[in-house]
Amino acid sequence: MVSLYDRLSYFAGVLLMAVLCVCLETCPARAAQAPVAPLELLVLGSGGPGAGGRAGAGYVLLLDGTPRILLDAGPGTFVRLGEARLDVRNLNIVLLTHLHADHVGELPGFVKARAVAARSDINFDVFGPGTAPSFPSTRQFIDLMFGQHGAFGYLQDFAGTVTFSTTDLDNISSVKTLYSQDGLEIHAIAGHHRDAPAVIYRVDYKGKNITFSGDIDEHGHAALRQIAKGSNLLVFNAPILDPPNSPAALYALHTAPVDIGRISATAAVSSLLLSHLSRDIDESRDAVTRSIGRSYQGPVQFAKDGLRIRL
Ligand SMILES: [Zn+2]
Repeated sequence: MVSLYDRLSYFAGVLLMAVLCVCLETCPARAAQAPVAPLELLVLGSGGPGAGGRAGAGYVLLLDGTPRILLDAGPGTFVRLGEARLDVRNLNIVLLTHLHADHVGELPGFVKARAVAARSDINFDVFGPGTAPSFPSTRQFIDLMFGQHGAFGYLQDFAGTVTFSTTDLDNISSVKTLYSQDGLEIHAIAGHHRDAPAVIYRVDYKGKNITFSGDIDEHGHAALRQIAKGSNLLVFNAPILDPPNSPAALYALHTAPVDIGRISATAAVSSLLLSHLSRDIDESRDAVTRSIGRSYQGPVQFAKDGLRIRL
């Protein structure tokens, strides 16, 4: 038989739990848990180029907690953007590493999301590679999608006027400053991704910086070492294993873990984030980490969709 004492103890316990739950949700200590970082990276998409259960390449950079820069917009990043519940009304800078579909295929979805979030006029500053025989320039690409006669030309005037100030990054064999305003600096240098014109970016803000390798083969390594020198974080696209464990053709397009380690060590970056991950990489994480660790001693992290890194 349950005594009166037992009943009172039970109700006291329930009451205590309820008070604790309310406090955990509302007390100032919890609200103060996550201070705003000057520079923060949100991984929208950590996957590609194949369909491996991750969104394609895409990142948002937040400055003082405000989303300001989109870097690449691979398939699936639209969903991740919504899941992150970001206020994108100040997200007007778009950096494109190259024009492969797994990096730019979701750009119309992003532009529409941005347009309906603001319902006011928007001007996007877009930077991306110049043209090559098999690729339009970034300016042509934007025009093909959003120009007056583009596939999604209707977005120009859908929820406010949408315009694009697009810069083709041709002939940047040395580091070039693309943007310098209110403490934000964006630098770029030409990368190399076989026949696709490619750009490596570094974003600097309040003494912190992040470098993005983009998809890169060995002909881009010298440029990457140069621009990434001393970076707080290097985001390295790492879809292949050390030779000979990936298809031979991929070594003309990407960088193997052994070289990722060497480059990160030479550039003396503080930390490394492996992204653009394939299933092969996911299934061989230990081998990848060991290979990189032969030359690079800093922290190495594998990206996942939704990951946030505060600098
Ligand atoms: Zn790619």
